[in-house]
Amino acid sequence: MSVRTRFAPSPTGYLHIGGARTALFNYLFARHHGGQYLLRIEDTDRQRSTQEAVQQILDSLDWLGLSPDEPPVFQSGREARHAEVARELLARGKAYLAYDTPEELAAMRAEAESQKRPFKYDGSRWMALDPKDAPSVAPVIRVRAPRPGDGSGDTVVQDLVQGEVRVSNAELDDMIILRSDGTPTYLHAVVVDDHDMRITHVIRGDDHLTNTFRQCMVYDAMGWHRPRFAHIPLIHGADGAKLSKRHGAVGALEFREQGFLPEAVCNYLMRLGWGHGDEEVIPRDKAIQLFDLAGVGRAASRMDYAKLLHLNGVYLRAADDERLTRDVLARLAKHEVPFGTLGAERVQALMPDLKERAKTLEELASAAAFVVVEGPPPMDAKAAALLTPEAKARLADLAQFLTDAPWERQDLESWLRDYAEVKGVKLGQVAQPLRIALTGSTQSPPIDAVLWALGRTEAMDRILAAAEE
Ligand code: GLU
Repeated sequence: MSVRTRFAPSPTGYLHIGGARTALFNYLFARHHGGQYLLRIEDTDRQRSTQEAVQQILDSLDWLGLSPDEPPVFQSGREARHAEVARELLARGKAYLAYDTPEELAAMRAEAESQKRPFKYDGSRWMALDPKDAPSVAPVIRVRAPRPGDGSGDTVVQDLVQGEVRVSNAELDDMIILRSDGTPTYLHAVVVDDHDMRITHVIRGDDHLTNTFRQCMVYDAMGWHRPRFAHIPLIHGADGAKLSKRHGAVGALEFREQGFLPEAVCNYLMRLGWGHGDEEVIPRDKAIQLFDLAGVGRAASRMDYAKLLHLNGVYLRAADDERLTRDVLARLAKHEVPFGTLGAERVQALMPDLKERAKTLEELASAAAFVVVEGPPPMDAKAAALLTPEAKARLADLAQFLTDAPWERQDLESWLRDYAEVKGVKLGQVAQPLRIALTGSTQSPPIDAVLWALGRTEAMDRILAAAEE
């Protein structure tokens, strides 16, 4: 049987980075086994689900390269089918109609509380009810839970991450699967959907582990084959608390905005809870080859933003220059930095050098800002202070010398060295004023690369402007 996994987010907010990791594990597992990876939007909570959240989830998955293999399934569109299964269970005697009023249920709970025992629903009075004696209360449908005497007396799940987990049947009670208004309950809907979508492996956060026993009731009552379950530990912050906004970015798209590359985020997330020795850089195709649930640990993992940043730098340096240029130009446009075609060409020319020094696309964009502008770039205070009369004189002299320079990167480098030698000064004494004139800053990629990328006309304009300031 071909492996089929699914990611099943509830569209009640943005896609959390923990959800992104769940999606990634489902994707990698399916790909590793040559199967399919699906998406189900669990939007049955009408009050809390929004169209914006659905869109954000789709955009996030698209950005991460985790779009599903089939069109997404919307749980809300399947209510008739959920109800149909509930009625089938009823017809088979695996479920029954229960007519408790809210007041009666509250009284049962209060009684359990007063006796200091956990509340366990007892529907025995409805099970053998003659329909003509039914009270005039709209009933719910409850599925019969396994009884303490059934089988081993326990419900057992062989979880692919948690190992064997069991709960005593004495702790399970008859769960509502269809409400009195005919709408399905969430735990029931999930089972019906997973069955109908032919899901073979349910990989999700371990906060759903306790739900699994209740979901097994529906599988077993219908006589359906249960999928394999894998409950993966949640992601915590550095302080060990569940990851939240106060630790840093948590929304998948926040990482995009901050200038992370999706492949770096995926690589980082994959290694968060799954490891392959000390290997840090594992691109997608290799990840597919290596990934298996056996390597997923049981302990919660801790999000380390510094590590992610480092990894992003590694991916940035390996990324295609044209792609980076496109992204950087879009960021500059968003920050309202004006540039024309020439500016765009200059960014691309300098990209191999720019990307050596940046860890995010945002850093890359701000480092590239001086290249795109026409004419002298804004000068920072430190640079301005170093633009002394001597420095200006040096620039004026250098401008003369550069007039005849061939404008190729290697030639420019030797040209500058020759100049320093002829004038009997250190290269730094030439490079620093030049850097200030060309970039408005005391830090930049190698100066010969900057000269070359700016082109003769633009470079000369900037040098002369600084010399005359
Ligand atoms: N909709 C659930 C959530 O967003 C996931 C349920 C599941 O994976 O079974 O937490």
